[in-house]
Amino acid sequence: MIKVSLISLGCAKNLVDSEIMVGHLQGAGMRVIPDAEHADVVIVNTCSFIDSSKEESIAHILEVNLQRGLRKRRSEQKLIVAGCMSQRFAKDLPGSMPEVDAFIGLDEITRIVPIIEEIYSRERGRNVPPASFVTPRSTFIPDYNTPRFRLTPPHFAYVKIAEGCNHPCTFCIIPQIRGRHRSRTVDSVVAEARQLVAEGVKEINLISQDTTFFGMDTWDERPNPRTPVDSSRGTALTSLLRELNAIGGDFWIRILYTHPAHWSDELIRTIAECPKVARYVDMPLQHISDRMLSAMQRETGGAYIRDLVLRIRAGIPGIALRTTFIVGFPGETEADVDELCEFVRETRFERLGVFRYSQEEGTRAAKMPGQVSSKDKERRWHRVMALQKEIAGSVSAASVGKTLKVLVDEPGVARGEADAPDIDGRVHVPRGLEVGHFATVRINGHHDYDLLALPAGQSPAEFKVAKQAQ
Ligand code: SF4
Repeated sequence: MIKVSLISLGCAKNLVDSEIMVGHLQGAGMRVIPDAEHADVVIVNTCSFIDSSKEESIAHILEVNLQRGLRKRRSEQKLIVAGCMSQRFAKDLPGSMPEVDAFIGLDEITRIVPIIEEIYSRERGRNVPPASFVTPRSTFIPDYNTPRFRLTPPHFAYVKIAEGCNHPCTFCIIPQIRGRHRSRTVDSVVAEARQLVAEGVKEINLISQDTTFFGMDTWDERPNPRTPVDSSRGTALTSLLRELNAIGGDFWIRILYTHPAHWSDELIRTIAECPKVARYVDMPLQHISDRMLSAMQRETGGAYIRDLVLRIRAGIPGIALRTTFIVGFPGETEADVDELCEFVRETRFERLGVFRYSQEEGTRAAKMPGQVSSKDKERRWHRVMALQKEIAGSVSAASVGKTLKVLVDEPGVARGEADAPDIDGRVHVPRGLEVGHFATVRINGHHDYDLLALPAGQSPAEFKVAKQAQ
């Protein structure tokens, strides 16, 4: 039996691709093991979003190659490189990494089994280049019945509702790697969600490059980002959320990666009216200065964003807003950063991340004049992060004394609706709370981004007594 080990790098979207590969491997009777050392085949599913992710991917590939060279017993081990990096550098990689046995693109993940069989049947002499299984333009999108083995803990799952992106952001390479936006059908996503809930999943995280664009690729005309979205024109995220909310059971639906351009009042109303949709919105805004938003081609302006944030806050009471910003984009001035800090101060985002702009080969922004020095990027990054740390501390302090429904991730660690897995903060709870289940707790302290809590209705002394009696 062939033993395969898979190293999954990058974001949740890549993780779903890894899960699909594992599902196919297991379906073919191959054994998937955690330990690369004892595997016959090692797959590195790479990320190539920015330079640092590329470097991390290359480091993993070189490490696997080094290890198999050191272990004579495993010198026959096959090395396959999949994911965004294979797709992005399809032409260059086979020549620059001859030690790899095969590169596979994003559309080939469901063919992982025949690809492994093929590389076993290939003679690999000194001058034979790696096999390459990469189609030029990615079009694949999984369905509810695509074989998949979940790699997340049993109580939460990622569901990819669409793939690809039609936005023109000048800093981003993703549309060139992952192709045009294509949505699954509502029925397909609902069938998958039903299955997950039946398996005991308590949190369904909806993911794609732009979740708010869900369904709109099937409309007769592309919605204009500068005019209000009319969701009655066809399938939209609103229709999906209402169907998911109607599935029986106690679970959360979390919406990740929304683009501000395609929000609508109907979407705000839908979230407010669907109690299973977490009071949490992830909406990367990237900047607030009109100059920067225009240079980034974000299809939105500062006034639109400010108004949208107000409408979301007013329409969905208790919502936690998560966003990300980029500092150091070409042409950014100190005045732009001042404006950004002022916006952060006045909006008080519950969750916020900041990226230093990365000059990515193949993007329009990479060729723009006014590239910002690393030193200035670093300084601006620290400035916004320091500001957010203060805000996060006061947001956490305001939670003390409140009662919160949490999902217990591991002994002693839980998350509330305002915390997405692997991204946001944690709620530290007593170790006795059952993992994978919801609990109601009362916040009794905080530490920067994290909260401290006890089961609702119990003082620390009562909790100790109750635990001793168990
Ligand atoms: S919305 Fe912009 S940043 Fe996000 S994946 Fe699409 S092009 Fe990239």
